[in-house]
Amino acid sequence: MGAKTHDVAIIGAGVCGTAIARALSAYHIKTILIEKCVDVGFGVSKANSGIIHGGFHHKADTLKAKLEIMGNLMFEKLHYELGFPFKRVGILVVAFSEEEMSIVEYLYGQGIANGVEGLEVCNARRLRYLEPHINPDAVGALFAPSGGIIEPYRYVFALAECAAQNGVELRTGFDVIAVEEKSGHYELISENNQRVKAKYVVNAAGLHADKVSRLFKAERFSIHGRKGEEYLLDRNSEAFPNHVLFPLPSKNSKGILVIPTVEGTTMIGPTAEMVEEKDDVSTTAENLEKVFTQAKHMTPSVSRKDIITSFAGTRPALKGNDFYIDISKKRPRFIQVAGVQSPGLTASPAIAEYVKDLLKQAGLKLTEKDSFNPRLEKTVSVRKQSPEQAAQLIDTNPMFGSIVCRCETVSEAEIVEAIRKGHTTLDGIKFYTRAGMGRCQGGFCTYKILKILARETGKDIREFTKRGGGSFEIVGKIGKKD
Ligand SMILES: Cc1cc2nc3c(=O)[nH]c(=O)nc-3n(C[C@H](O)[C@H](O)[C@H](O)COP(=O)(O)OP(=O)(O)OC[C@H]3O[C@@H](n4cnc5c(N)ncnc54)[C@H](O)[C@@H]3O)c2cc1C
Repeated sequence: MGAKTHDVAIIGAGVCGTAIARALSAYHIKTILIEKCVDVGFGVSKANSGIIHGGFHHKADTLKAKLEIMGNLMFEKLHYELGFPFKRVGILVVAFSEEEMSIVEYLYGQGIANGVEGLEVCNARRLRYLEPHINPDAVGALFAPSGGIIEPYRYVFALAECAAQNGVELRTGFDVIAVEEKSGHYELISENNQRVKAKYVVNAAGLHADKVSRLFKAERFSIHGRKGEEYLLDRNSEAFPNHVLFPLPSKNSKGILVIPTVEGTTMIGPTAEMVEEKDDVSTTAENLEKVFTQAKHMTPSVSRKDIITSFAGTRPALKGNDFYIDISKKRPRFIQVAGVQSPGLTASPAIAEYVKDLLKQAGLKLTEKDSFNPRLEKTVSVRKQSPEQAAQLIDTNPMFGSIVCRCETVSEAEIVEAIRKGHTTLDGIKFYTRAGMGRCQGGFCTYKILKILARETGKDIREFTKRGGGSFEIVGKIGKKD
């Protein structure tokens, strides 16, 4: 007997694919989420600024602006249901001259036209009241109280977990390299000849959505990589702002920001640079200098000694710069979700609703499930407990008392939970728990985590990787023959 045919296959488990999977999991259909990496969210969605944008940067007639505004409004409910870290801290776009204030006024007008509520043009006094550590040369700002910050990886993991809890099948390590069209369904074929059959396919392959579209002989378009380097500051940095601080935007970018992360650290960046190689995630001393200088101009307390690490992500940009989310005109039952660059994270829950409607238009029958559970069980982090609460936790499970990551105060119980939820690479555990994200960048906890991984899975310590593929952590033993 042949393999079962799914109603929908989603290619790509980034923020778009996982949000779509969760939205579809509320209906009586068989959905499969396919991802080439070892874990979900390991593409563009792991390397961004974690901002829930305020809806004033883009013009009302773009799909991007519509989905950004709708997505922004959906985050309280999602946070309540899924429990990922999220705060509506607000955004300030800071001006340093009267000429720049005219651009602030323009953004204000654009935001109002987009239907954003609560926008305010601030003078220098009001700005300093909101953000006391701002450069004293700043003359005013646009204040968007609806802007927020989230932990992007916990958000993606939560979407995938909730989708799986409601019946979506997840297949990681499946790189779609070929497609066969059969009568009434597509057959997706991986590098190692695994096959998945599906009546409808959603192309949410991020940077590689152009390649996937070509595999389907659907629309031809090119995705260009626009790399953004970000720098993370120690949690003790004095530069931690109350709001997300933006400069004025340029044609291609929202500029270098000073970002308070939802977990209490400060991030500065990102750059915006066209790159030939889409998967290029290198960072350079030159760009560090650029980011540092511009962030220091915004907040003079940004200090070089506080920089603890850097990373880069590449925006999947299309010509025209809008999202391309539509039913393919060339292939039946094939939905394109391409060119989702910033504000893709913000727009993601709205993108999921939009794609659900497109699938319906393309003929998919959707009947709601009574059994759909939108909520995930709450998880606990020892670092967020009072000493009394921590003592109670340790009474119920002594592993909460064994601190594996000292910089971010992550307990063994949290590492075990991440592993039991299927995160079996060092990066997967880091993104789930924050172990390894602090000042020492894993110097203290990496080996401890590897030992817990070996114990929990029964595998040899040498089998574990940083992020899958050949990224092994241990390659041999010093002084002994293997
Ligand atoms: C530096 C930077 C900062 C940003 N900051 C923000 C921000 O603050 N706020 C905001 O709203 N947005 C931000 N963004 C944008 C946001 O991160 C993206 O819009 C979003 O993550 C795109 O998600 P995605 O699901 O489309 O792509 P991805 O996360 O890349 O997901 C696509 C997935 O498809 C998989 N895949 C590809 N090809 C195949 C194949 N053939 N078979 C199987 N799987 C495949 C990939 O491995 C990947 O996991 C930022 C982006 C960057 C780069």
